[in-house]
Amino acid sequence: MTEDKLSSTSSGMAAPMAYFTAPQRTGLLANAGPVFWACLCGLALVAAIVTGTALTISNLRQREIQRGQENLQNTVRLLARHFDRQFSDFESVERSVANDLAQRISSPNDLKGVVSSETYYHYLRSKVNDSGDFAGVNVYGVDGNRLASSAQWPAAPVNLSDRKYFQAFKTTPEASAVMIQLVQSRLSSGMTIVIARKILGRDGQFLGMVTRSTTPDMIESFLSSIVPTDGALALLHQDGTLLARFPHSERALGQNFAASPLYAQAASSDGRATMQIVSPLDGQERIASVRYLDHYPVAVLGTINTSALLANWKDQARLVAVAAGGASAIILLILGFILHYLRRQRQRLRLAVNNMRQGLLLFDASERLILCNDVYLEMFGLSSRIVQPGTKLHEIMQHRIDVGSFVGDVERHCEMIRAASRTGQSSQAVVETPDGRCIQVKNQPVKNGGWVSTLEDITVQRRAEERIWKLANYDVLTGLPNRAHFVDELRRELEVSSNIEHFAVLFVDTDEFKAVNDSLGHHVGDELLESIAEVLRRCLAPSDFVARLGGDEFAIIMHYSGQQEQLAALVQRIQAAIRQPHRCGPHTLSVDASIGVAISKVDGLSCEELLRAADLAMYEAKASGRRTYQFFEAGMEKKARDRKLLESDLRQAIENEDIEVHFQPVLDLRSNEIGGCEALARWVHPERGYVSPADFIPIAEQSGLIEQLGDYVLRRACLEAMTWPDQMKVAVNVSPAQFKTGALPLKVASALADSGLSPGSLELEITEAVLIRDAKTALETLYQLRQLGARLALDDFGTGYSSLSYLSKFPFDKIKIDRSFINELSDGSRSAGIVRAVIALAAEHRMSTTAEGVETEQQRNMLRHLQCDEMQGFLLSPAKPAAEIKKMLNPAVPVKFAS
Ligand code: C2E
Ligand code: CA
Ligand code: CA
Repeated sequence: MTEDKLSSTSSGMAAPMAYFTAPQRTGLLANAGPVFWACLCGLALVAAIVTGTALTISNLRQREIQRGQENLQNTVRLLARHFDRQFSDFESVERSVANDLAQRISSPNDLKGVVSSETYYHYLRSKVNDSGDFAGVNVYGVDGNRLASSAQWPAAPVNLSDRKYFQAFKTTPEASAVMIQLVQSRLSSGMTIVIARKILGRDGQFLGMVTRSTTPDMIESFLSSIVPTDGALALLHQDGTLLARFPHSERALGQNFAASPLYAQAASSDGRATMQIVSPLDGQERIASVRYLDHYPVAVLGTINTSALLANWKDQARLVAVAAGGASAIILLILGFILHYLRRQRQRLRLAVNNMRQGLLLFDASERLILCNDVYLEMFGLSSRIVQPGTKLHEIMQHRIDVGSFVGDVERHCEMIRAASRTGQSSQAVVETPDGRCIQVKNQPVKNGGWVSTLEDITVQRRAEERIWKLANYDVLTGLPNRAHFVDELRRELEVSSNIEHFAVLFVDTDEFKAVNDSLGHHVGDELLESIAEVLRRCLAPSDFVARLGGDEFAIIMHYSGQQEQLAALVQRIQAAIRQPHRCGPHTLSVDASIGVAISKVDGLSCEELLRAADLAMYEAKASGRRTYQFFEAGMEKKARDRKLLESDLRQAIENEDIEVHFQPVLDLRSNEIGGCEALARWVHPERGYVSPADFIPIAEQSGLIEQLGDYVLRRACLEAMTWPDQMKVAVNVSPAQFKTGALPLKVASALADSGLSPGSLELEITEAVLIRDAKTALETLYQLRQLGARLALDDFGTGYSSLSYLSKFPFDKIKIDRSFINELSDGSRSAGIVRAVIALAAEHRMSTTAEGVETEQQRNMLRHLQCDEMQGFLLSPAKPAAEIKKMLNPAVPVKFAS
C-alpha cells in the first residue's frame, strides 16, 4: 500500500503527510528570519554610532583647529599692526633726521661737515631721547663711513659700505627708502636688526643713510609676553629671513624660510597665509599664520602646536568615543547574547527534535520546509542535502520516490494534502511503506498556515497488536477464526448485507471426534481437527467464512443464491467432504458431521438469534441420529424448551418413583431357554404418555439425574430378580455418567446386599463410551465390580471405534452385538461377516455373545448358525412389566416367538 492508499483514521483531514505550502521563491532573503534582521539592524546601529562618532570627533577637531587658526590669525594681525606702528615710531627719528638733512645739504661732501659737529651729536641725542626709545641713531656718508652717532662724539669710525642695504641704497635709486636687515653687529658683539633709511638730496641724489638698530632679544622679549601656550611667534623679513623668534632658536635666527609653503603662499597672495605645517625647526605639526606688515618689509609669524591645540578636543573626543564605544558594545553584547540564547535554544530544540522517536516536519504556508529532524531522514533514508529548510514538499516527495520509500503520484499526493489542509483540522493516518513498515502520520495545522507532521514507525506495535488480535480472534490449532471472531464477522455481515444477499449460518459438529481424541490420543485428535478445518477451508467459496467454535464444533457463514435447494447441495457437499477419510499420522479416520443450518433472512434477524437457531438445528441433527443436517425450524426452539420442561418433569418422576422398570427376556439360542432379563426404564408421562429412554436417558445424563435414576433401576432390578427362579440373571444398563463419581461399586454392593441377590446373577451393561472417557478410572471401577462378583457386558458393540482395543484391555463376560448389525443381517451381507467376526473374537477371549434387536425368525436362525450364544428382541418379547415377565420365566412355560 502506498501513502495515497491509506487507512485514514482522521477527523477532517484524510491526507497522510503534512507537507503544506504554495509556490514561488521570493528572492534571496525570502527565508531570512527575524534573527537575521535583528542582527542586521543591530550591526547597522553600531555602524551608525561609529560613523556618527567619527564625524562628530572629526567636526570637533575641525572646529578646534579652525578656532585655533582664527585665534592665531587675530594674534598675528594684532602683532602686525603693533610692529607696523612700532617700526614707524622707531623709524620716525631716522625719517626726521633724513628729511632734515635733505633740506640742509645739497651735495654728499656737505654731509660730513653738518653731521660731524658736536652740536649735531647733541641734536641726534635729543632726537633719540625724544623718541623714548634709547636705541642709538647713526648717520653714514655716501662712502659708507659713519659720520655721526647719538652714542658718542666724535663717532667711532665704522664702514658699512659692504652692507646689502647700503649697496641697494647707493646703486639702486628705485630701491625702497627704508630697508631692514639682520646682521652681525660691528658695534657690539651680537646680532642686530638694522633699520636703515637713505638720505636723498633735494635733487634725489644719494647722500648717505641713517640707521637705527634693535636686537632680536628685544623683540623676542616682547614676543614672550604675548606668545600663546604651546605657540611660537616670530618676526621675519619679507625675504624670509628670521629676525626674531620666541621661543628663541639660535639656529633659526637669520635662516631663510622663503621656500616654506606658508611663506610662499603669503608671498603669492596679499601677504597673508594660514595653514597647517610641519615645523622645520622641531618637526612638530603646527598651525601657522603669517602676515606682512603694511609699511615695512617685515612679516609676523605665529604658530601653535596642533597637538596642544587639540588637547581639549582630544579629551572631548575621548569622551564621545567612550560613550559611543560603550553604546556599541552594549548593542553588540545584547546582540551576542540574543544570538547565543537563540543558538542555545536552537541546539536544545535540535537535541529535543532529534531525540524524539517520531520524525518531525514543519512546513510553512507555501509548502516549504522549515524544520526537519534526523529521525525523519533516517526513517526514509533521505539525504540532508536535499531535504533541508526551504525544500518544497513535492521535491521531498520526489526524493522519496528516488530512494524508494514512496510509491505513488507525487502531484496527486500533494494535491490531496492541500485539499486536506483546507479543512484546517488535524488528522491521523497509518501508511505502509514499500518495505512493509507501518508509519503513523499525524498532521497538525499551525497558525499562519503551514503544518507540523509527526511520523512514527509503529511496525513493532502493529505486529504485536496483530499478534494479540490474532490470538484473540484465531484458533491456534487450526488457524481458523475463533468463536469471538465469528460472532464479530456475523454481526458485520448482518450490518452490510443487503436484501438481495443471502447467507446461512452453519454449525458443524463432528460426530465421532471425542472417541478419536480419547482413544487415539490428543495429537491424533488435533490432526483430525486440522484436517477437517482444511477440508472446510477448501470446499468453501472465498466469500464464505469458517471458524472453529471450540472442541469439534465448526461454524460457517455461507453465501448462496437464495434457493434452499442450492444451499442444501452446498451443505451436502461439505458433509461429503468431511466424510472423506482423513490421514492422521499412522491412522486413516472416517468421520461424519451433524450440521445445523440457519438462514439469515428466513430464520432470524439478530446475530444471537441466528447463532442459537444454527445451534438448535445442529442439536436436532444430532438428536435425529447424527450424520445428517437440519435446517432450522421454528419448532426447534420449542423443542429445546420442551427439553427443559421434560427435565424438570423427569426430576419429579424420579422423585415420585413414577419411573417403572420393565424387563426384556434373553434367550439361550442353544437350549432355547430364557436365561435372564434386561432391565429397561419406562416412563409414562401424565401428559405426553410414553417417553422413550432414548429421549429421557440423555436428559438424565446431562442433568445429573442419572445417578438417582440408575440407582433406582439397579435396586428395583435386583429386588425383582430375587423373585425369579435360580440361575436367572438380570442385566442392568449403566450409563457412563455413573462412572464419573467412582461410587458405582459401592452402590452395586449395597443393592446386592439389600436385595440379597447373588452377585453372579447381576450383569452390568456398559458401553465403550465408559472406557473412552477416562480409561484408567473406568478400568479400576470395572475391576472393583468384577471383584464384587458381578458380570460385565459390553453393550452396543460395534457402534464405537475402539471396541476391539478395549476387548483386549478388559476381559468382559459378554458382548452385546448392536441392533444395527442384526437389522441388516441377511445371508452374505457385510453385517453377517462382522457378526461372525465378533462372535469368533468373543470366543477367543472367552466371552459369550448376545445379539440385540432380533425381530425375525430368519435372524434367529442365522445367529444360531453363526453360533451366537444368546438373543434378545421383539421376536421373543419386548420389555414388559415385572409381573408379566415373571410368567414367562417359569421353566415350565414353553418359549413362544412373536412371528
Ligand atoms: P439398550 O441397552 O440397547 O436396550 C435395548 C433397547 O432395544 C431397548 O430400547 C429395547 O426396548 C430395544 N429393543 C429390544 N428388542 C428390540 C427389537 O427387537 N427391535 C427393536 N427395534 N428394539 C428392540 P429402550 O428400552 O427404548 O432403551 C433404549 C436405550 O435406553 C437402551 O438401549 C439403553 O441404552 C437405555 N436405557 C434404557 N433403560 C435404561 C436404564 O435403566 N439405565 C440406563 N443407563 N440406560 C437405559
Ligand atoms: Ca442394554
Ligand atoms: Ca444395547
